[in-house]
Amino acid sequence: MEKIYNELIKYLSKDRVLKNEPMCKHTSFKIGGPADIFVKVNTIEELKNTLNIAKTNKIPVTCIGNGTNLLVKDKGIRGITIKLDFKDINVNGEEIEVGSGMQLPILAKTAYSNSLTGLEFASGIPGTVGGAVKMNAGAYGGEFKDIVVETTYLNSEQNLKKIQNKEHKFSYRYSIFDETNDIIISTKLKLKKGNKEFIKSKMEEFSLKRKEKQPINFPNAGSVFKRKNEYIPAEIIDKCGLKGYNIGDAYVSKLHAGFIINKGNATAQDVLNLIEHIKNVVRQNYYINLELEIKVIGE
Ligand SMILES: Cc1cc2nc3c(=O)[nH]c(=O)nc-3n(C[C@H](O)[C@H](O)[C@H](O)COP(=O)(O)OP(=O)(O)OC[C@H]3O[C@@H](n4cnc5c(N)ncnc54)[C@H](O)[C@@H]3O)c2cc1C
Repeated sequence: MEKIYNELIKYLSKDRVLKNEPMCKHTSFKIGGPADIFVKVNTIEELKNTLNIAKTNKIPVTCIGNGTNLLVKDKGIRGITIKLDFKDINVNGEEIEVGSGMQLPILAKTAYSNSLTGLEFASGIPGTVGGAVKMNAGAYGGEFKDIVVETTYLNSEQNLKKIQNKEHKFSYRYSIFDETNDIIISTKLKLKKGNKEFIKSKMEEFSLKRKEKQPINFPNAGSVFKRKNEYIPAEIIDKCGLKGYNIGDAYVSKLHAGFIINKGNATAQDVLNLIEHIKNVVRQNYYINLELEIKVIGE
């Protein structure tokens, strides 16, 4: 890895190339073993240089945003882990073109400052635009699929491509980016002119609901399982009597049974064992196979 590190610091400042970087520092769960090499890239050129180094040295690449939907396993991530930090933002009438590393709360505030409505739902989602497009993030009746016009991405041949809304194949917490290793660079969103006071009041209302219903005082990664038309995982898990159940420091939240929280020193294995236990109990009681919403990566 030393050779790769030396190649990377030719293109990136040393503070953005970290060796054996604990991933618990970069995930909202505060769990995860070390990434062999962790880099932060700010430009497409830096991204391409990093990908070229990985390709020549035949090592794997993993891309992350804000790590708020991730469970990184305890032995960490081999190869290069890239945190995408593209943060450009351009407002043009009712459209916003925004870099994939932009944090959703900041994006929602920008929309508000410009009297644009349509992003209030995202103001309390702690991820980035890239993670949100890939996951079709949503809350309180809004989803990215409702506002995305087009997305620019880098494909595996390192060509910049664009896709329009329909081509994302959005569905519940899913987009076409789930099927590929393409890297989202930026997205164009279409909002509507709105009333600033009304936008603000909606953001405040959603923020209050989150504080009441979600265990925001403990590290977590949001809803662990996908909601389906037929059932809401949190309700089923609650009915199975699993609220407060724990393995090590990984607990089913008492406030919201769809969340697993880290009460201190939970390992990824604790969380995985807890997930397995929840799935088994739910299967036995309701004949339902819960599907994971969070992404499990690493080894
Ligand atoms: C307290 C809390 C509340 C939450 N509430 C919600 C909610 O209301 N609604 C909701 O939908 N989610 C919610 N989440 C989950 C999470 O915030 C979203 O899924 C978010 O969109 C993930 O973004 P991220 O940047 O953190 O992605 P990460 O967790 O870093 O990555 C998620 C996936 O996206 C990929 N990815 C990230 N960036 C890129 C990119 N630029 N190009 C290609 N792939 C990329 C990663 O490889 C990974 O597969 C919540 C999480 C927490 C901790």
